[in-house]
Amino acid sequence: MKILLAEDDFTTRSMLAAILKKWGYDPVVCEDGHAAWNVLQKPEAPRLVLLDWNMPGLEGPEVCRRLRKKETANPSYVILLTGRGEKNDIVQGLEAGANDYISKPYDNAELLARIRVGQRMLELQSSLLATQAALAHQATHDALTGIFNRRAILDQLARELARALRQSVRLSVAMCDIDHFKEINDRFGHQAGDEVLVALTRCLQANLREYDYVGRYGGEEFLVIATGSTAQGDDGLYERLRQQVAALEVKTMTGNVAITVSIGTAPGTGKSTVDALLAAADAALYQAKAAGRNRVARSQDEKIGKDESGIG
Ligand SMILES: [Mg+2]
Repeated sequence: MKILLAEDDFTTRSMLAAILKKWGYDPVVCEDGHAAWNVLQKPEAPRLVLLDWNMPGLEGPEVCRRLRKKETANPSYVILLTGRGEKNDIVQGLEAGANDYISKPYDNAELLARIRVGQRMLELQSSLLATQAALAHQATHDALTGIFNRRAILDQLARELARALRQSVRLSVAMCDIDHFKEINDRFGHQAGDEVLVALTRCLQANLREYDYVGRYGGEEFLVIATGSTAQGDDGLYERLRQQVAALEVKTMTGNVAITVSIGTAPGTGKSTVDALLAAADAALYQAKAAGRNRVARSQDEKIGKDESGIG
């Protein structure tokens, strides 16, 4: 583990660097506060920091203050090395944002113990952040397919509508539903059904553009958001998706499964609402199913996708 060591006194610095190495740490040595501050601003800066209090230019507490001003989610752990013992100074150092301090002349065993406390704090902090990131991912992604779940794709739609309004651009949504999915489950088993869902997801992802989004809206229903649409809409994109899915043969444990999707699409602008677009796409999906499945139907709702800003 890297430790930043800032100490202006040559002898103390050399001794500390040597003992840190002996303890298995990797010291990054600085001769004054300015040098320490430069190192600490780098992305790969040490997280554990030993700062001498009295240094020319920039003193330890000031380096600490600057560090705390900058830091957010994953703060470093700072130990001040101080020759002063008065209570007042200690308070000042801790209020500058130091986690701990040790007075010179320090005892090696105590210094090592305090460094280890810092190391444990940093390790705990990192593991909490990793857990937090994993939970955030779980809360927004579908466990089976790995794509956005219903909540996340709807949030994305709200963001894309806000962006469409700001930039006066169009978008469209498509509700894609696997035809006769229940029969696939009944005939090939639920495991095969899951494999079909994953295969369909990969197919949609492979055929969407990088600025489009797809999420699992419900059981076998997927919501696509296509951004940057033209006034003519995204009929070509959705027809291509339909064809690619129809050409797919999913190899499952219980046999090869051919699938098709019905797609209901609705064009939108920044004036559209999430609910209105979903309702229009749903109605179009119903039309596609009623007309025989394995087809794309576009919303017949004339109000959807029009606006008064001149791009309607
Ligand atoms: Mg000094």
